[in-house]
Order: sequence, then C-alpha cells, then structure tokens
Amino acid sequence: MNDKINYNSLMEQEFKKFDGKKKILLHSCCGPCSTAVIDCLKDYFEITILYYNPNIEPYEEYLKRKEEQKRYINESNLVINLMDIDYDNESFKKIAKNLENEVEGGARCHKCYYLRLEKTGKEAIKNHYDYFGTTLTVSPYKNAQVINKIGKELENRLNETNEQQIKFLVSDFKKKNGYKKSIELAKKYNLYRQDYCGCLYGKILNKENENYEYKKEENHLNYK
Ligand code: SF4
Repeated sequence: MNDKINYNSLMEQEFKKFDGKKKILLHSCCGPCSTAVIDCLKDYFEITILYYNPNIEPYEEYLKRKEEQKRYINESNLVINLMDIDYDNESFKKIAKNLENEVEGGARCHKCYYLRLEKTGKEAIKNHYDYFGTTLTVSPYKNAQVINKIGKELENRLNETNEQQIKFLVSDFKKKNGYKKSIELAKKYNLYRQDYCGCLYGKILNKENENYEYKKEENHLNYK
C-alpha cells in the first residue's frame, strides 16, 4: 500500500486559502535548487531567502554556494530578499556526532534537515513571517515525506512556545517537473552545481561508492 502523502497537492490547497500575498522565510540550500522553488512561489509570497547551511564543508565550498545564491537573486531581477546567517559548522558537527558513517538520507541527514529548518522557523517567528519553508524538497535525493514531517513537528513545537504563530509550508517541489525546471534555470544562469550534498562525511562515503550517481539528473526528470 502506498501511504505517501502528496505534499505538492497539500501545498496547492494551501494557496487556495490565500487572500493576498503572504510572507515566507524560505530556507535555501543552494542557488540551483532555489530557482524553480522561487518560480513556483513568487505569485503567492513575498520571499526572503534564508541562507543557513552549516553542513556545507569545507568553508570555501560554503562561500562558493552562497555567492551563487546571491548572484542568482541579483541576475534574475526578482524581488527577493536575502537573510544571511554566519557559518556555524560547530552546530552541524554536534548533531552529526556518532552518525558520521550513516548513508546519505539516513539519521545524520534527518538531523541536518531538522537543524536547518529549526533555525528557519525560529527566525521566521522572530521576524514576523507568516510561513517558513525550504527548497530541499526539489531534490530527488531528499525524502519529502521526512522533511515535511519535520517541518510540521517544528511548526507545532514553535507555536506551543511562542505567542507569535507560524506555519510550515509543506511542499514537494520536484513534482510537476520542478526538478527539471531547476536544472534548466541553473543552466540558463550558468550556476555552479555541486557534485555532493554538503558535508564531508557524505562526500567521502559517496566517492567510495562506485555506483553513486549524484548529478545524473536524467534519472530523475520524470516526477509528475
Ligand atoms: S549528506 Fe547532506 S543532508 Fe546529509 S548530513 Fe551531509 S550535508 Fe546534511
């Protein structure tokens, strides 16, 4: 039995309730992923991109991806704000402790999603946004079921402990050719596309796996 939730459909239902543009703080992992997500959300939200990715190693790689994110925002001529948070690799190292050998997509990654979404939710509440969300679900390498469950759990937790209320925007941006669009837009803007997720644990483990097919986008272009 397929009991997967269609988060793209839930997101579209959410849009139908809107009576005007809402404000969203959107965590972005990198410029290429942000392209199609911004395109999908721009008619419904005033968007601020939060660049909080303490998982990206080494520091030079983090800077490179961040610069590409900024370049896309500038060159696309879209009205998008950017909230840039300092590199905080220690926080990532803490949550990854004893999970260094986990496969990509496993327990270390779930904590990594949590870390980045928790920061996004907290900043969104503090700065009076209506929603918080993430570009992560545009990637075929990320489990949208897990990411959305984490987002909703954080929404509940943050709303229990804060007067200001916030909503997590559920999503599955890879659907409806979202992933394909991100590749096309990344090519159009000549954006740097990394060949590993972000942390060095994942990079090293993946390079040891000769069947690893990161960036073979042709295998993932048919999400409906
Ligand atoms: S592989 Fe990616 S998602 Fe997983 S812990 Fe490393 S950086 Fe985070």
